[in-house]
Amino acid sequence: MTEPAGPSDTTAARRLDGNAAAGALADLFAVDVTTARSRCPSCGKTSMLGAHHLYADAPALVLRCPHCTDVVLRYATQQGRILLDLRARLLTIPAPAPANESNGA
Ligand SMILES: [Zn+2]
Repeated sequence: MTEPAGPSDTTAARRLDGNAAAGALADLFAVDVTTARSRCPSCGKTSMLGAHHLYADAPALVLRCPHCTDVVLRYATQQGRILLDLRARLLTIPAPAPANESNGA
Protein backbone atom coordinates (compact mmCIF):
# COMPACT_ATOMS: atom_id res chain seq x y z
CA MET A 1 0.00 0.00 0.00
CA THR A 2 1.32 3.46 -0.83
CA GLU A 3 1.51 6.36 1.55
CA PRO A 4 -1.05 9.10 1.00
CA ALA A 5 0.33 12.20 -0.69
CA GLY A 6 1.49 14.80 1.81
CA PRO A 7 1.24 18.57 1.53
CA SER A 8 4.68 18.67 -0.17
CA ASP A 9 3.47 16.48 -3.06
CA THR A 10 2.96 19.28 -5.58
CA THR A 11 2.74 16.87 -8.51
CA ALA A 12 -0.45 15.27 -7.23
CA ALA A 13 -1.89 18.67 -6.26
CA ARG A 14 -1.34 20.01 -9.82
CA ARG A 15 -2.68 16.95 -11.65
CA LEU A 16 -6.08 17.25 -13.37
CA ASP A 17 -8.22 14.75 -15.19
CA GLY A 18 -7.49 14.72 -18.93
CA ASN A 19 -11.04 15.97 -19.56
CA ALA A 20 -9.90 19.37 -18.27
CA ALA A 21 -8.01 19.82 -21.57
CA ALA A 22 -11.25 19.68 -23.58
CA GLY A 23 -11.63 23.47 -23.95
CA ALA A 24 -8.10 24.08 -25.21
CA LEU A 25 -8.19 21.08 -27.54
CA ALA A 26 -11.56 22.19 -28.95
CA ASP A 27 -9.81 25.34 -30.21
CA LEU A 28 -7.10 23.21 -31.78
CA PHE A 29 -9.42 20.95 -33.73
CA ALA A 30 -11.95 23.63 -34.73
CA VAL A 31 -9.59 25.37 -37.16
CA ASP A 32 -8.75 24.73 -40.80
CA VAL A 33 -5.81 22.44 -40.23
CA THR A 34 -4.59 22.75 -43.83
CA THR A 35 -3.15 26.13 -42.80
CA ALA A 36 -1.10 24.45 -40.07
CA ARG A 37 2.60 24.01 -40.62
CA SER A 38 4.19 20.65 -39.90
CA ARG A 39 7.80 19.65 -39.50
CA CYS A 40 8.60 16.42 -41.31
CA PRO A 41 9.79 13.56 -39.06
CA SER A 42 12.37 12.51 -41.66
CA CYS A 43 13.86 15.54 -43.39
CA GLY A 44 12.93 18.17 -40.79
CA LYS A 45 11.62 20.63 -43.36
CA THR A 46 8.47 22.62 -42.55
CA SER A 47 5.48 22.98 -44.88
CA MET A 48 1.82 23.89 -44.66
CA LEU A 49 -0.34 20.76 -44.51
CA GLY A 50 -2.20 22.03 -47.57
CA ALA A 51 1.05 21.83 -49.54
CA HIS A 52 1.63 18.17 -48.68
CA HIS A 53 0.88 15.36 -51.13
CA LEU A 54 -2.42 13.64 -50.38
CA TYR A 55 -3.07 10.00 -51.20
CA ALA A 56 -6.80 9.45 -50.70
CA ASP A 57 -7.17 6.09 -52.44
CA ALA A 58 -5.95 4.04 -49.46
CA PRO A 59 -8.00 2.89 -46.47
CA ALA A 60 -6.77 6.08 -44.79
CA LEU A 61 -6.02 9.57 -46.07
CA VAL A 62 -2.25 9.79 -46.20
CA LEU A 63 -0.38 13.11 -46.27
CA ARG A 64 3.23 12.89 -47.39
CA CYS A 65 6.02 15.45 -47.11
CA PRO A 66 6.39 17.46 -50.33
CA HIS A 67 10.19 17.40 -49.91
CA CYS A 68 11.04 13.76 -49.10
CA THR A 69 7.63 12.00 -49.49
CA ASP A 70 7.75 10.45 -45.99
CA VAL A 71 4.38 9.99 -44.25
CA VAL A 72 3.49 12.94 -42.02
CA LEU A 73 -0.14 12.19 -41.18
CA ARG A 74 -2.69 9.41 -41.64
CA TYR A 75 -6.39 9.85 -41.00
CA ALA A 76 -9.15 7.27 -41.09
CA THR A 77 -12.59 6.60 -39.69
CA GLN A 78 -13.52 3.22 -38.33
CA GLN A 79 -16.63 2.08 -36.49
CA GLY A 80 -17.65 5.60 -35.48
CA ARG A 81 -14.15 6.64 -34.42
CA ILE A 82 -11.53 8.91 -35.97
CA LEU A 83 -8.02 7.49 -36.11
CA LEU A 84 -5.23 10.05 -36.40
CA ASP A 85 -1.59 9.04 -36.80
CA LEU A 86 0.39 12.28 -36.58
CA ARG A 87 4.04 11.65 -37.28
CA ALA A 88 5.07 15.27 -37.75
CA ARG A 89 7.67 16.39 -35.22
CA LEU A 90 5.77 19.61 -34.68
CA LEU A 91 2.40 20.88 -35.88
CA THR A 92 1.93 24.64 -35.62
CA ILE A 93 -1.70 25.69 -35.98
CA PRO A 94 -2.81 29.33 -36.15
CA ALA A 95 -4.99 30.03 -33.12
CA PRO A 96 -8.53 31.22 -33.88
CA ALA A 97 -9.11 34.92 -33.33
CA PRO A 98 -10.88 35.75 -30.08
CA ALA A 99 -14.60 36.32 -30.65
CA ASN A 100 -14.43 40.04 -29.76
CA GLU A 101 -11.84 40.73 -32.53
CA SER A 102 -14.06 39.45 -35.34
CA ASN A 103 -16.80 42.06 -34.77
CA GLY A 104 -14.46 45.05 -34.94
CA ALA A 105 -14.92 45.95 -31.26
ZN1 LIG B 1 10.30 15.35 -45.39
